[in-house]
Amino acid sequence: MQVCSNNQQILHAVSTWKAQGKTIAFVPTMGGLHAGHLSLVHQAKANADKVVVSIFVNPTQFGKNEDFDHYPKTLEQDLTKLEACQVDAVFTPSKEQIYPNGYTSHVKAGSLAQGLCSKSRPGHFDGVVQVVHRLFEIITPNVAIFGQKDYQQLLVIRQMVETLSLPISILSGDIVREQSGLAMSTRNQYLSVDEKETALKLYQVLIQLKQAVLKNQDLSVAIHNSKATLSQDFKIEYLSVFDANTLKSITDNTSKIAILCAVFLGSTRLIDNIIFNQG
Ligand code: AMP
Repeated sequence: MQVCSNNQQILHAVSTWKAQGKTIAFVPTMGGLHAGHLSLVHQAKANADKVVVSIFVNPTQFGKNEDFDHYPKTLEQDLTKLEACQVDAVFTPSKEQIYPNGYTSHVKAGSLAQGLCSKSRPGHFDGVVQVVHRLFEIITPNVAIFGQKDYQQLLVIRQMVETLSLPISILSGDIVREQSGLAMSTRNQYLSVDEKETALKLYQVLIQLKQAVLKNQDLSVAIHNSKATLSQDFKIEYLSVFDANTLKSITDNTSKIAILCAVFLGSTRLIDNIIFNQG
């Protein structure tokens, strides 16, 4: 496994593979790797000849009062996990490699970035789109894999690729959960043992809400009830039931539904979702 800490190294690896006619799958991450990330790596391996994983905590997607400074950094363990998955190259750039002096990006997040996470994290998706576009520019993958865990992000990336006509297939990976049902997240490290116990209620509420939707119960009543349950343990940022393609209200044309939520448990922000077919 090659560990490339600068652009020249990864460019060399990628151009060598391309000259050999190999295809490349790319999995962008911010490190603090868990089984959710590794499931994307396995999917990448199944979809291309070579797999590149990036580990870069992107400053431009964090707000002023967010956890950029103490975001978990576990590079040694991450590399061990990726080596065990037989990843071909890990790209671990510095901020200067990604945003060299004078670098400007004109790429902005599209309409799907509106609402949901953007409400509390203004500019977040512009930062995500900026870094992913830059990483795509350097790595030029054939395929890139993103987790459904960050569902709005997945749609925003797909929209960017479509708008810019980038020759990259975007695949999504299912949410990997703890046995308790809690969606795996690097930020789960912030939770105390008691909080982890409480956190699993989030997924339980989402499942109940899904059942209510499938039974055609009044949507606003069902959401209201779910919020009432959630608010016993969490500070709710949003809990929405939307068309999974448009991230807008459900219509007669809706075929796939997304239940999406963001909550705070103490000072830790958790997001989760369920995507399912309409009845
Ligand atoms: P992050 O390191 O948090 O930026 O995440 C990197 C990628 O891993 C993103 O595409 C996430 O959606 C994905 N991811 C994070 N958590 C999970 C999970 N529990 N299951 C599947 N994919 C995940």
